[in-house]
Amino acid sequence: MIDYQAILNTIYANVTQESDKGEIATYIPELSGVDPNRFGMHLKLISGEEFAVGDSEVGFSIQSISKVLTLAMAMSQVGSTIWERMDVEPSGNPFNHLSLLELEEGIPRNPLINSGAIVIADILVTQLKNPKADFLKYVQDITGDSSISYNLKVAQSEKETGFNNYAAANLLKSFDNLHNSVDDVLDFYFHQCSLEMSCSQIAKAFFMFANKGVCLRDVGRLTKTQAKRINAIMLTCGFYDEAGEFAFEVGLPGKSGVGGGIAASLPHEFSISVWAPGLNPQGNSKLGMLALEQFTTLTKQSIF
Ligand code: GLN
Repeated sequence: MIDYQAILNTIYANVTQESDKGEIATYIPELSGVDPNRFGMHLKLISGEEFAVGDSEVGFSIQSISKVLTLAMAMSQVGSTIWERMDVEPSGNPFNHLSLLELEEGIPRNPLINSGAIVIADILVTQLKNPKADFLKYVQDITGDSSISYNLKVAQSEKETGFNNYAAANLLKSFDNLHNSVDDVLDFYFHQCSLEMSCSQIAKAFFMFANKGVCLRDVGRLTKTQAKRINAIMLTCGFYDEAGEFAFEVGLPGKSGVGGGIAASLPHEFSISVWAPGLNPQGNSKLGMLALEQFTTLTKQSIF
């Protein structure tokens, strides 16, 4: 029997001692004020047991972690037709790299980089009656927590400075791979990125990826195959140009965000989330990666 609480306590003691905590993302001005000393971690086992340490109940900007949740919602809405509009290959490049739109086709490399997530946002804007409200309700439902909300200041801050995302959306539009207006799609995208959730809430939302597509409330949200595919995409594409490093060091399907959060799952065993706002040069949480590396080493639990 693994003593998860003792392991989380050990990790907390180890990583909070690190003097180099990485750099807070400042390109979204509203994120720049976050306290770099924050650290939280939350584990949810398939059995229902939960373990936590540090700031695990403090909300933060989930940013690109939201790309997995929009992908899941879009897959449940339109199924495999998604793959007519994007690929599933790792990029090996930063999240906002524009050359990832393969120029002749306008097809993003995968749904977890910005250009791919913008196409997923377009699909949801087409599918949903009230896109922002319906997506928020979906996240609240899979998590079982109606207190989750958008941070409108973060969404606005990103709208004012998101030139790269406007460029990506315009490029997609020029290739006819965006069916709604650039403004409508990016308004949705900036809101999804601004979702504020704690490690505890994220671990609950990601439970369905560890649990064959069945969410916390015991409702089937994805087919087993869809859950398998999302885990595969997280493993190969969840950390941009550091996906190989994350598989090498941690060995779990996961997704990072520039708010310093990481969500991960071990299919059939657990979901886990960690938050440490300082980022490494690849834009992934520095201490978050270290903490998860220690977690899979100390528990001897990874997909490998
Ligand atoms: N909202 C951010 C952006 O589009 C998300 C990036 C991230 O978390 N990697 O730039």
